[in-house]
Amino acid sequence: MHEVIVIGGGPAGLMASVSAAEHGARVLLLDKGDKLGRKLAISGGGRCNVTNRMPLDELIAHIPGNGRFMYSPFSVFNNEDIIRFFERLGIALKEEDRGRMFPVSDKATTVVQTLLKRINDLGVTVRTNTAVASLEYDDGRIAMVQLKNGERLKTKTVIVATGGQSVPHTGSTGDAYPWAKAAGHTITELYPTEVPITSAEPFIQEKKLQGLSLRDIELSVYAPNGKQIKTHDGDMIFTHFGLSGPAALRCSQYVVKALKKYKQPTIEMRIDLRPTIPAEALFQETIQNIKAEPKKALKTVLRGIAPERFLQYIYERLRIDSNLPCASVRHEVIREIVQQLKSFSFHVNGTLSIEKAFVTGGGVSVKEIEPKTMHSKKKAGLFFCGEVLDIHGYTGGYNITCAFSTGYTAGKGAAEYVHHKS
Ligand SMILES: Cc1cc2nc3c(=O)[nH]c(=O)nc-3n(C[C@H](O)[C@H](O)[C@H](O)COP(=O)(O)OP(=O)(O)OC[C@H]3O[C@@H](n4cnc5c(N)ncnc54)[C@H](O)[C@@H]3O)c2cc1C
Repeated sequence: MHEVIVIGGGPAGLMASVSAAEHGARVLLLDKGDKLGRKLAISGGGRCNVTNRMPLDELIAHIPGNGRFMYSPFSVFNNEDIIRFFERLGIALKEEDRGRMFPVSDKATTVVQTLLKRINDLGVTVRTNTAVASLEYDDGRIAMVQLKNGERLKTKTVIVATGGQSVPHTGSTGDAYPWAKAAGHTITELYPTEVPITSAEPFIQEKKLQGLSLRDIELSVYAPNGKQIKTHDGDMIFTHFGLSGPAALRCSQYVVKALKKYKQPTIEMRIDLRPTIPAEALFQETIQNIKAEPKKALKTVLRGIAPERFLQYIYERLRIDSNLPCASVRHEVIREIVQQLKSFSFHVNGTLSIEKAFVTGGGVSVKEIEPKTMHSKKKAGLFFCGEVLDIHGYTGGYNITCAFSTGYTAGKGAAEYVHHKS
């Protein structure tokens, strides 16, 4: 009879194994892949954005998918605990912009190897290439883990840490949703989040701005009635199909939800390329520059007001001859250019698929999970942690933070359950 079986060796399952073992339980970790931590190893562009150093309320604000649920798991194991955990194991972390924490080595594999060494030191038994097929219960309690190869493992507790449905080649293929359903859990609708956005606008289709990065912009999503739904600041990039980059990824879930809610084929987005200066001030500043050098070409005087390629596209879009001496350009035209820089509007029609998303939105409903232990409210001895749950954060270390926090909490919860029951 096993004490704790953890299914899934991503950040949630690895931390759950560490925690259950540290709290005195005998742990068996199963993963269907040949390696553990495959998604972790490619996370953060291969550098692993292991957590984020924001204060608690800020951390929660960056977890738009049921962030408030995280108050309890964070009271057990939070971002500072994650930092201490790795530093105690000899992995120095460094802070980058917006509180993002990375290993000093800049290698995600350092994080994976540290976790693997820790579970090894704690005596966790690991079985890779071992896919779980289903879970079995006896009188409302978890009783058995059924493997794909037909083997059945008797156990007191199970921690489900199988991840979401994104980037399936890392092993996250949504296997656990049917198990959770069979246990009586609700699976909220699954959707791609932190995912590039697609657009059928001619300038996108014609690849006019493909590859252009915009820094420190504001990107907004609008409802059909013109109401702003969400704005995110940061960087973005135009791609051959639409937009990507941090600000676009953060806006993506609002695009998905707005398309669904308003049942429209497209949703409007706007970019403010100069968010730190009001439109009127930008207009007046430009007029002063024109007055100072009236004979120079418009494009020369406007250089630097926005990226060159973007300005060229604006001249083309507004049919402006930017070689004209700037003093000959009417003020209404300058206003139009400023308007484009402050509120560049275009329509988007969706996102890439859930498989191509960084994160899966939706999952096992958190209403049916005890937040201090991650124990299922439906079956005794069953625990959930990580992305399989209906919890998701923005990119910036928030998802791995949730995985580690819920993983640690589940491991502790399962170990205490085992000791309490036996
Ligand atoms: C390219 C990329 C980069 C990312 N970068 C960051 C980042 O820098 N910071 C951040 O916070 N988040 C990042 N994320 C998101 C983050 O990696 C995930 O939210 C996190 O890995 C989820 O952890 P998890 O343990 O819940 O699941 P996963 O990491 O998905 O692990 C699930 C594990 O379960 C196993 N499994 C599944 N089904 C079965 C089964 N039937 N039997 C046995 N085992 C099974 C899988 O093989 C896998 O090993 C990134 C995601 C991607 C795709």
